[in-house]
Amino acid sequence: MTNPTVENLVIIGSGPAGYTAAIYAGRANLKPVVFEGFEMGGLPGGQLMTTTEVENFPGFPQGITGPELMDNMKAQAERWGAELYTEDVTAVDLSQRPFIVRSEEREIKTHSIVIATGATAKRLGLPSEHQFWSRGISACAICDGATPIFHGAELAVIGAGDSAAEESIYLTKYGSKVNLLVRSEQMRASKAMQDRVLSNPKIQVHWHTEAVDIFGNGQMAGVKVRNNQTGEESKLHAKGLFYAIGNTPNTRLFQGQLELDEVGYVVTKNNSVETSVEGVFAAGDVQDHEFRQAVTAAGSGCMAAMLAERWLSARSLITEFHQSATSVNELETHPAKKTEAEAEAGFNLQGTRHEGGYALRKLFHESDRLIIVKYISPGCGPCHTLKPILNKVIDEFEGKIHFVEIDIDQDRDIAENANVTGTPTVQFFKNQELLHEVKGVKQKSEYRQIIERYL
Ligand SMILES: Cc1cc2nc3c(=O)[nH]c(=O)nc-3n(C[C@H](O)[C@H](O)[C@H](O)COP(=O)(O)OP(=O)(O)OC[C@H]3O[C@@H](n4cnc5c(N)ncnc54)[C@H](O)[C@@H]3O)c2cc1C
Repeated sequence: MTNPTVENLVIIGSGPAGYTAAIYAGRANLKPVVFEGFEMGGLPGGQLMTTTEVENFPGFPQGITGPELMDNMKAQAERWGAELYTEDVTAVDLSQRPFIVRSEEREIKTHSIVIATGATAKRLGLPSEHQFWSRGISACAICDGATPIFHGAELAVIGAGDSAAEESIYLTKYGSKVNLLVRSEQMRASKAMQDRVLSNPKIQVHWHTEAVDIFGNGQMAGVKVRNNQTGEESKLHAKGLFYAIGNTPNTRLFQGQLELDEVGYVVTKNNSVETSVEGVFAAGDVQDHEFRQAVTAAGSGCMAAMLAERWLSARSLITEFHQSATSVNELETHPAKKTEAEAEAGFNLQGTRHEGGYALRKLFHESDRLIIVKYISPGCGPCHTLKPILNKVIDEFEGKIHFVEIDIDQDRDIAENANVTGTPTVQFFKNQELLHEVKGVKQKSEYRQIIERYL
């Protein structure tokens, strides 16, 4: 659908750079349109949706989890009038003015653009990678580490930077041992992180070691590795393999339309965030080889919005939008597990929305409605992303279905019986039979179609 009006500013991306640009542009009455992304270039909310504690973002002396920080930034952007779409931009046309920005759902004309598409985790391309993806291999230890199959199991992490260090340490909470596979004889992680890895008795670092393939029968059983000094190959038993091998800038959309460097980063000018196309600015990891931090991304997002505003103003292109600031959304907290008596007292067989194992067991045995079970884990960024998407779909079927949320950390036995191997996972049951399972985050239409099929 084409919007006939021309927007002041479109921001592509919703990491710290995109949301900060949105906050500044919103406060400048530009009413920016933000494409938060969906799956092409990582999660809405960006890379911090896959981490636990962020200890170095100013203003949080006790630290803050990545998903919480991004929820706050999003709420602040919305408060200042940013219009958010949880959609991927599929094409841009920078050859004409106003510029054109397209997603599957809409086409928008805009005078200026901030590119804040960040970077995406790399994959290794091992021969059996596809077969074992989500059946042992994961690119997000924080999302998938708590799943029951990894409890007490031997695990492996590939990488040598801060992410690999952080993920290895995190996984020691669940695995019996974590094997960290490092290609060379040293790590690239900060000294502090290296010290934490090397002094952790549950982590074994395998130097000069590369993964060759995965083995297993249905579920992953281990990694075939090669010592790149001796050429010797061996089998390392591990039920889970977590990739932490770096990122690629998300700039495919812009190839041939503005200047990129040989790796694909957007080239910016004048020690600033201006790109080779006037009116197009780039902020955050998409243009930053060096620092790649949340605070530097946010700082450059601020610069991009301020320069966009100056650029629009100098050309008299601004349409101002005035609005009264609405209150910031209430932040969610992680509730403690209810006791059996509390769960029983709060249970209503006719209700649509439920949570916890008690409700699921009752519904499973006593209701003939379609039961949709969403499995989540604490700190799981994609679970945050899925929440509003699935909530909207559940609202459409109020009274016709049951929806149960299970925190796999609190209800481990349920997750184990349901063979949940990662979060978020959504299962669909009727008459005590599992009809369908969806892993990860999908479009609303996919969940809607499955519900309609089984109602
Ligand atoms: C595990 C981990 C831990 C980290 N911990 C820290 C930390 O403790 N402190 C710190 O300062 N930094 C940390 N970082 C680095 C930090 O996350 C990044 O520097 C920062 O997120 C970069 O922000 P960004 O806005 O540039 O991009 P990103 O966070 O990468 O966000 C990019 C956004 O663009 C969107 N997007 C991509 N393509 C499209 C498209 N076609 N259409 C629409 N949207 C699109 C994505 O969906 C996403 O919303 C960590 C990174 C990782 C991976």
